[in-house]
Amino acid sequence: MDSHPLGLFLDSKKYYSITMLKEKVLIVEDEKEISKLLKYNLEKEGYQVFAATDGEAGLALAKSKHPDMIILDLMLPKLSGIEVCKMIRKDSQVPIIMLTAKKEETDRVLGLELGADDYVTKPFSVRELLARIKSLFRRSKEKTSDAKVVRAGKLEVDLERYEVKLADKLVELSSKEFTFLKVLLSAQGKVLTRDQLLESVWGYDQASEIDTRTVDQHVARLRVKLGSEASRLATVKNIGYKFKIN
Ligand code: CA
Repeated sequence: MDSHPLGLFLDSKKYYSITMLKEKVLIVEDEKEISKLLKYNLEKEGYQVFAATDGEAGLALAKSKHPDMIILDLMLPKLSGIEVCKMIRKDSQVPIIMLTAKKEETDRVLGLELGADDYVTKPFSVRELLARIKSLFRRSKEKTSDAKVVRAGKLEVDLERYEVKLADKLVELSSKEFTFLKVLLSAQGKVLTRDQLLESVWGYDQASEIDTRTVDQHVARLRVKLGSEASRLATVKNIGYKFKIN
């Protein structure tokens, strides 16, 4: 029995399902009232929320926390929302909703083709923004589950050709290592227990005879091969592993 971050006491097989429900949302907004209101409402909806009040801090949090979605204000101190969006898009496809102050700004932002996924003009109702967030989460999940090629930073995984590239160079993986990576990717950021990984990669019959340490050994080997993107294959203490796509 381990203590769970939510203060629950469950065995590891049961509590991974609770852990995977919390999606992370980053709010980058310098207007404190708006930021507070959003944070309060998003947490009430069950999201884990991080907030930054300027562009630089927002970019830093986007890199360190790997959020599942970013609510990004356009006019920000230090680094504008446009700059932040451009820099995030260099190596992440995380869904981004831009907040703009005027209709004209929205038109301008749209014209720039920054790669934001949606736009909301201020003043907006929290209820409307929440609806947009939910619909964007739905859309981006459909996109990932249909994808033939998954990109994460410098990593590119072609699920049909069984090819993995790191910074455009082919990475040699064994078929088990590839399947392992594929299973983690299809979990879309959710945590998988060692037992789940064993069953998905080796099949139920074999899994009962294989030690769960085999999973750890495969993770270690994969991390070496994933080079600069190794940290995406994250250990979730006492539970298992997950792959951070964003
Ligand atoms: Ca602002």
